Amino acid sequence: MFHIATQEEIKRGKVTDVYFERTVEILKTCGIEKKVKAEVYAKNLPRDWNYGVLAGVEEVIKLLEGLPIDVNILPEGSIFWKNQPIMQISGKYTDFAIFETPLLGLLCQSSGIATAASRCKIAAKDKTLLSFGARRMHPGIAPMIDRSAFIGGCDGVAVVKSAQIIGEEAKGTMPHSLILILENPIEAYKLFHKIEPLPIKRIALIDTFGDEKFEAIEAAKTLGEDLFAVRLDTPISRRGDFKAILEEVRWELDLRGFDEVKLFVSGGLNEFEILRLSNVADAFGVGTYLSNAPVIDFSLDIVEINGKPLAKRGKKSGHKKVLQCKKCHKLLILPEKKEVDKCECNGELLLCLKKLIKKGKITENLPSPQKIRNYVINQIKDLNLKVE
Ligand SMILES: [Zn+2]
Repeated sequence: MFHIATQEEIKRGKVTDVYFERTVEILKTCGIEKKVKAEVYAKNLPRDWNYGVLAGVEEVIKLLEGLPIDVNILPEGSIFWKNQPIMQISGKYTDFAIFETPLLGLLCQSSGIATAASRCKIAAKDKTLLSFGARRMHPGIAPMIDRSAFIGGCDGVAVVKSAQIIGEEAKGTMPHSLILILENPIEAYKLFHKIEPLPIKRIALIDTFGDEKFEAIEAAKTLGEDLFAVRLDTPISRRGDFKAILEEVRWELDLRGFDEVKLFVSGGLNEFEILRLSNVADAFGVGTYLSNAPVIDFSLDIVEINGKPLAKRGKKSGHKKVLQCKKCHKLLILPEKKEVDKCECNGELLLCLKKLIKKGKITENLPSPQKIRNYVINQIKDLNLKVE
């Protein structure tokens, strides 16, 4: 019915580039069996991003589970840098060759979205950030989009199915259609309040017919203390200076004693607009900027064949040891066998990659989306990551 591969087809390696199938056929027909080590990294990051957030790890582990290979990978939610190996595979090439296409696809797209979300979270500071972008993409991947946005730092997601998968309540406000069909915003606020159960926050959309300032005042007068927030989704054609509109609405609400009413903004936001509005807005709904985030161009390369370092031109051969200093966070990428005791700052060095698959078996329980998200947020603080 939909133009999408099933989970079983992906797991069986049907979503692969045909040249991998042909390579496996040639090698198997000729009885050539070589053990290889391969690694995954991004040579460059999109836009002018100086870091990435790794996502898609759980799906990659599920994809590769059961193959007679070992997989070392950065824990999901790890901050990584360009040229840093984020994953290593050891095993017979013919055992995993056809999975290059889906494993890269899983990592590249999820990590792009998680990185974009983390940048929006940094820009939003302590304000709320929701993922609203599912409608721009194929619905088959909406849960992946929202999960990646959530672990990257979003506080919630709008799509019901996505929320169910990550174990969160779906978050939303009210659409313009409710106000249009009732032909009256006040009627919409009243009916929402009457019919929707109370734990659901009352967030009045205030830009359908009239001016944001006057509709905000009307919404506050109508719902009083029950009004949690007003949402401004002001069309770009009417927007002018969005920050000035927000400041004016804030002023008018405060003047009338509605200091507690929050300002929720949406509509074409990106990290820079969020940064500009973050002192006056209280919550952000971000859509296309997250769901249509650029992919991280990870590539997978063979670096060792039957124990001998060998890589194509432009790539460093041999498996790498990836270490990070616990104290100064400096990253060290060394030949696998090189021993180092301490960082030059005397800090303890930790191995970044974890063996999550050993001979086809998953070695430990994979963390929940909530735990991964906390990990991302803690690293943002520890590494003092900024959006400017
Ligand atoms: Zn150090």
